[in-house]
Parts: sequence; structure tokens; C-alpha cells
Amino acid sequence: MVDFKEIRGEFPILNQEIHGHPLVYLDSAATSQKPNAVIDAEANFYRTINAGVHRGAHELAARSTMAFEEARAKVAKLVGANAAEGEEEIVVTGGATAGLNLLATAFGNASLGRGGEAAKRFALKPGDEIVVSRAEHHSVLLPFQELAYRTGATFKWIDLTEDGRVRTDNLDEVITERTKVVAVTHVGNTTGAITNIAPIIKRAHEVGSIFILDACQSVPHLKVDFHALDVDFAAWSAHKMYGPTGVGFLYGKRELLEALPPANFGGSMVELAYMDHEAQYMAPPARFEAGTQPVAQVVAAGVAAEWMMNIGLENIEAHEKTIAAELLKLGDIDGIRILGPRENVDRIGTVAFDVAGVHPHDVGQFIDAQGIAIRVGHHCAQPVHRHFGLYASNRASSGVYNSVEDAQALVEAAKGIRKFFGVE
Ligand code: PMP
Repeated sequence: MVDFKEIRGEFPILNQEIHGHPLVYLDSAATSQKPNAVIDAEANFYRTINAGVHRGAHELAARSTMAFEEARAKVAKLVGANAAEGEEEIVVTGGATAGLNLLATAFGNASLGRGGEAAKRFALKPGDEIVVSRAEHHSVLLPFQELAYRTGATFKWIDLTEDGRVRTDNLDEVITERTKVVAVTHVGNTTGAITNIAPIIKRAHEVGSIFILDACQSVPHLKVDFHALDVDFAAWSAHKMYGPTGVGFLYGKRELLEALPPANFGGSMVELAYMDHEAQYMAPPARFEAGTQPVAQVVAAGVAAEWMMNIGLENIEAHEKTIAAELLKLGDIDGIRILGPRENVDRIGTVAFDVAGVHPHDVGQFIDAQGIAIRVGHHCAQPVHRHFGLYASNRASSGVYNSVEDAQALVEAAKGIRKFFGVE
């Protein structure tokens, strides 16, 4: 039995009062808090082995390189990826946004003929199609829309059901023989809905398309195995999975990473560089990790991955399901509408809601005055909000440290919103 109260105690930031109330943090979809193990790992790295990786002849450089590569292996284990030397499938990035832009840029480079024969599978031309879903965060929507503009490819999307799930009933219409790239979120950052990705991946592969998964909101909450899912690429951020900011990971099937041309250029990514002809690039993952990497943060992200695996992803999922059940009671309050599935099935504890007649910023402030942190705004998912006829909403989202009492505190507070603003 995992003691989630004890786990909460590992997060020093939660041990404080806000506006005279004990802090209730329900904004983990924006960023999670960090346990002592992660905070200490980053600090200890600087205290004991800080050095540039992969190029020093001295002992500290060897130790930091080892810590960096061990962290990569821990992260790989978390998501079911390969980590053996020469078979690495995890690329270090600056975050999900950086990883998704890396892919879009690399596909753009392939479209210009870069990367030779092997990279042709990533190349796009007018008439080809890029497919996303309406559930996407702007960090999927915009890089791939931009890729479409640059290559002349047609940009298409899979729409949502009334309650905000990615539809799977018309995949044959949307994903066609011309589709070259499909990029879809694993879990909606507004709706909390888990996408039924299996049929989307199957259809994408049936037509020879690459499938890219935005795993930002799944890796922190669910057991995820990229091999079992058969995704081609996946991107996510460490800061939402109890790790540091400024770092994230890109998964790619090894043979695809080997065929993908680079997107960023600089130090530590070439075997040979010349003045008068093209450089010879390193094998992945180094080919995609130009420049000095956020080593301390990667090491701490590895500790976060290990920390999550020690708790057990199934345990995390089950615990957060109890919080989701409580948060969904927001929908029982008069004048409050949930943007996403109402039933506690195939969803996580991310619950966005609209309070009729009260602007989200007012809602956020009212809730904050009671020591409860939620998110307000469009959550970088404007098309999702448009689907619900809104521009913005309020969003509560859980993490391992939340208790059912946290969710109850929010629901209790929410009962008073419309009365306070005089719209009841
Ligand atoms: N995709 C989803 C589903 C997200 O929730 C987020 C973070 N809000 C991102 C992508 C982008 O992540 P980051 O800002 O850490 O790069």
C-alpha cells in the first residue's frame, strides 16, 4: 500500500499557507511540484560532479557524463524505450515544445531534400497532408501548421465529440493515402480526456504516415509504453512529471531517429566539420542534442522518473482517479459546466469548468483567496475552447500529492462563486 500522505510530505512547497489557508495546489497540468529527491538531485549535481558532458578528459566530466546517460536510461525505462548504447531512443530537449519544433523543423529540412534518401519518408510536398486533432495544445498545432505553410502540405484535423474526446469514427475520411504526418495528444490538457489513440495509430500506419504523440499530460499520470503503443515519435516535458523546468524528452523509434535529419546545429553533434563541404553528423541521440545540455536538470529528471516508478504508475493512476471523481462533482453545481467527459472513465484528474456569468479570472482570484491554486485562461488550447463556445475556462488538475480533501475544498469553494459575484 502506498501512503500518499507520506508522499505529499516529500514536497516542501506544499507545506505553507496562502492567504491564511493551507495551500491546495491543483495546477499540476501547468507544472507539477518537485519532491525533495528531485530538488536534492539537482543541487547535489552542482555540489559534486558538475562538468561538461561527453568531451572532458577529466574525472568530473566522466562522472557527469555517466550521470547524464544514466538519467536518459531511467527516462527510457519509464516510457518503455531502448537505452542501450547505440540503440538510444530518447533525445534530450528543452521541453515538449522544443521537441515538437525539433520534429517539425527536421521534417521541413527533409522536405528540402536534406538527409538524403533515408529522410524522404519525412518529406512533405503540396498535396500531402498533415493531420492533428482539435484537442491539441498550441505546441502541436502551431509547429505542424507552420510545417504545412512551409511545405505546401494540406493541414487537416480530427474533430471532437460533444464532450471533447478526439473522434475515432471518421478516421478513414480524415487520414488518407496522402497523409504523411499525424500528431495527436495522448491526454487533452483542457478536457483531461485520454485519447483512444490505438485506432488513430493503426490508421496512420495503414496509410504509411508517421504518428507523433504529445505525451505531456499522459506520462505524469499513466503507465505509458511507447513500444507497446507503436508510436513513431513522442514528446513531453520533465516539469510536469515532478522534474525540473527547462528540459524535456523526445522519443523516436531508433530506425526513424537514424533516418531523421538534424534540426539544430552546433557543438557536440558532428563527427567531422569542414569549411568547404558538409559536416558528417553523429548518430542519434547526439545528432539532435546540439550545444551544452541542461545536464543537472536531466539528471534530476532521471531521479523524477525513478521516483515515479518506485511509487508505481498503476498506483499513481488509481490515486488520481479518486481525486478526479471528486473534482467531477464540480459539474453538479448549478451554473457550472465541465469542458470534457463528465464520467470518470478514460480521463485523468484534469477538470476544466465554466462558471456561467463569471469571468475565469474572477473565478481564479476568488478560489485563490481560499488558498487554492487553479489555472484560468485558454490553457494554450484555443480551438478546444471554441469547440465549447468559450474563449477561456477554469482548470483544476491533480498530481500525486493531492488528496480527496483538496478536491473537496475546491468543490466547496466553487459552490459560493456565483453567489459572491451576484449572478445566482
Ligand atoms: N502539450 C500539452 C498537452 C501540454 O499540456 C503542454 C504544457 N502546457 C505542452 C504540450 C507544452 O509543454 P511545455 O510548455 O513544457 O513545452
